[in-house]
Amino acid sequence: MTTHCCEAMNSRVNVPCDRHDDPFACPDALVTFSAEFQEYGLIIHDGGASSITIAFCPWCGRRLPESQRDSWFDELERRGIDPWADEVPAEFRDERRPASPPQE
Ligand SMILES: [Zn+2]
Ligand SMILES: [Zn+2]
Repeated sequence: MTTHCCEAMNSRVNVPCDRHDDPFACPDALVTFSAEFQEYGLIIHDGGASSITIAFCPWCGRRLPESQRDSWFDELERRGIDPWADEVPAEFRDERRPASPPQE
């Protein structure tokens, strides 16, 4: 369980909903958090799975962690893993992966 920057974010990110398994299908879900990429996104409810990546928390205004999307792919490449074809190791799938600290 990841702790986010503030209570509001904690309660808004990846809201568990008993009617929708997919947050993109749930009208109550506003923010999505990708643990592997350390990315926060505002969900665009257009029927697809689009989101807008945000750099600051909409509630407390703190800077959110740097996106690790590029380094995620770089690290996999370094290990010779193709994320589209090969099995991605478990440590790449959640927040156990070391992330760079948020920059003030
Ligand atoms: Zn729902
Ligand atoms: Zn916050």
